Amino acid sequence: MQRTLLMLGLVLLLLPGLTLGQRRNQPSSILIKGGHVIDPKNNINEVMDVAIRDGKIENVAKQIEPAPDSKVIDARGMYVTPGLIDMHGHFFPNAGRGDPAPDVLTLRSGVTTAVDAGSSGWRTFPDFKREIIDESTTRVFAFLNIVGNGFSGNEQDTADMNAKLAADMALKHKDNIVGFKVAHYIRRDWIPIDGAIEAGELAGGLPVMVDFGSARPALSLEELLLEKFRPGDIYTHVFGGNAAVGSPVSPGGREAVVDQEGNVKPFAFKAQQRGVIFDVGFGGASFDINYAMQAMKHGFYPNTMGTDMNYHSFNGAMKNILNVMSTFLTLGMDLSSVIEGATWKPAQVINHEELGHLSKGAVADVALLSIREGDFGFWDREDYKIKGNQKLECQLTIREGRVVYDFNGISIPDPE
Ligand SMILES: [Zn+2]
Repeated sequence: MQRTLLMLGLVLLLLPGLTLGQRRNQPSSILIKGGHVIDPKNNINEVMDVAIRDGKIENVAKQIEPAPDSKVIDARGMYVTPGLIDMHGHFFPNAGRGDPAPDVLTLRSGVTTAVDAGSSGWRTFPDFKREIIDESTTRVFAFLNIVGNGFSGNEQDTADMNAKLAADMALKHKDNIVGFKVAHYIRRDWIPIDGAIEAGELAGGLPVMVDFGSARPALSLEELLLEKFRPGDIYTHVFGGNAAVGSPVSPGGREAVVDQEGNVKPFAFKAQQRGVIFDVGFGGASFDINYAMQAMKHGFYPNTMGTDMNYHSFNGAMKNILNVMSTFLTLGMDLSSVIEGATWKPAQVINHEELGHLSKGAVADVALLSIREGDFGFWDREDYKIKGNQKLECQLTIREGRVVYDFNGISIPDPE
């Protein structure tokens, strides 16, 4: 008996494709009916049906009749969006900071593609790929840290920064590595940023993402944005920085995009116009609601909704990408722009334009979101809080045509 149970257990473990937490019966065809589709790339913002077959988007139209083998999902009252892309997170547990593996926090928030921002470097990327990227249901890309050991190493160690070796690793793993990252550097020179940009050039024009560190006195943000950066490079933690509105000038650390009077510095607009990307990168201590509020009042909006998901942020004010998006909704950004910042825009930034939209033939990564109405609070690193009455919630996540998260069982028939 025990032996039989053991064998049964083994057989269950070995059933192809049946991994923990996922559904046993995956239909090859899904029809999502009556949801409000927001697909910024294709300029769709209305009620439409979405048909999925064999892992791809088969059709998006006003009325689609179910095929005989279709699993029909009633999405009335929900938004149907491309699977979300989180531009900035940390998903390499073995890098030593206790960050989560991607599937832990992505799929339940509608995220089907996550970009790791520098947890691994050119020395440690092969481990990251083997342990995490190849084992995750979430599609994982990486910005390679210019420091060879990434977060496992010393990010101040200029001897471990090597543009050539970083570029070689990126060229060897073109399917996974989308750019280079600089973070947490405290010295007052441009060595890591110059190195990352050189790596980007050597690897055929890949972008760099910069966490601007904390040199004292601060390095010039204008010089970074207008002279160092190429169009397509990414300034993350855009509403971080140390010179709080109304506070005395910070002796150093990091310059904010907003000045003492709450005006957006003209070079920030100029940089955005020349194609520099501004990523939220909310994180544990990198988002100040006041900066965002002041900036948006003057017409300066972030381009991408990166969370900076990490050990410190997911139980803090940040929580997940839907909370970040809901914060920006509450601050007055419209839903379609917020969704674009988590779908089509990041897809373009990482040069993966096959993702982030629901075009016919595209991979069927889809999120079903609802907006919960109620009394909600959103806060930041300063414990500054705003109140709102809308919060995005993930109902269902589909990754390459498979249901990978279903909050209320809407993909399962109701009981008789
Ligand atoms: Zn980060």
